[in-house]
Amino acid sequence: MADLFDLTGRVALVTGASQGLGRRFAEVLAARGAAVCLAARQTGKLAELAGELRARGGTCHAVALDVTDASAVSRAIADCETAVGPLDILVNNAGIAVSKPFLEQADDDWDSVVGTNLRGAFLVAREVAKGMAERGRGNIINVASVLGLDVVGSLSPYCASKGGLLQLTRAMAHELARSGVRVNAIAPGYIETDINRGFFESEAGRRLENALPVRRVGQPEELDGALLLLASDASRYMTGSTVTVDGGFLVR
Ligand code: NAD
Repeated sequence: MADLFDLTGRVALVTGASQGLGRRFAEVLAARGAAVCLAARQTGKLAELAGELRARGGTCHAVALDVTDASAVSRAIADCETAVGPLDILVNNAGIAVSKPFLEQADDDWDSVVGTNLRGAFLVAREVAKGMAERGRGNIINVASVLGLDVVGSLSPYCASKGGLLQLTRAMAHELARSGVRVNAIAPGYIETDINRGFFESEAGRRLENALPVRRVGQPEELDGALLLLASDASRYMTGSTVTVDGGFLVR
């Protein structure tokens, strides 16, 4: 039986690829044979990752991209496509959070969180989808969150942005299906990365971990299966779906 998750010959763009989940997504796509364009604001870290992926035999290209800057988005995508070819897969991963009680969230907090997680994802997806629709094929994966489906305290703009991203996923899937472009979302629960490791080692973090049905936070590699499902032909009849990977957070 052919390898359902083989991505040889595919070209992928991962935003926010310099660290955390984005870095892992880029590594996994490259390991399955995709040429990968790595995009993030911090090009130093990207160049290092690009070097590592090339040393493992991968094809990749690093590009500076702030997803909140519309003109930078079209330039970066053109740069990627010139370097590695027309995009088949977009992993819309760049995201931020500002943790404050609702009454303390400032206008700037809202603008930066919603501007990155929802508007930024929209800008990148729209630009990439234009080319995909012209070619009649493409696959977009939006990295949302269980906090797009449920809420916790002190993350109101984040919850709103991720809820919006899940609806954007459905709206895009609906409109782009006839053009051969599939659009799905991954909704991770709590996954340990550099930015939250300290928190999970704290008293509050341990309490949160113990409240999860599986009694532990997830590791980035535990998203590999969902990513490969959505990025490959294994999901060719899936569009508009959200794949939740949360250790039971939503059923706690
Ligand atoms: P992270 O902070 O380690 O990584 C986020 C990445 O996005 C970084 O590379 C950062 O440079 C990039 N980024 C931020 N703003 C950007 C901008 N304006 N332009 C370009 N790049 C930008 O966090 P992470 O945990 O790896 O999160 C990755 C994604 O997964 C985010 O969308 C996050 O909301 C989502 N997510 C994470 C978790 C988790 O528990 N780690 C859970 C659910 C969802």
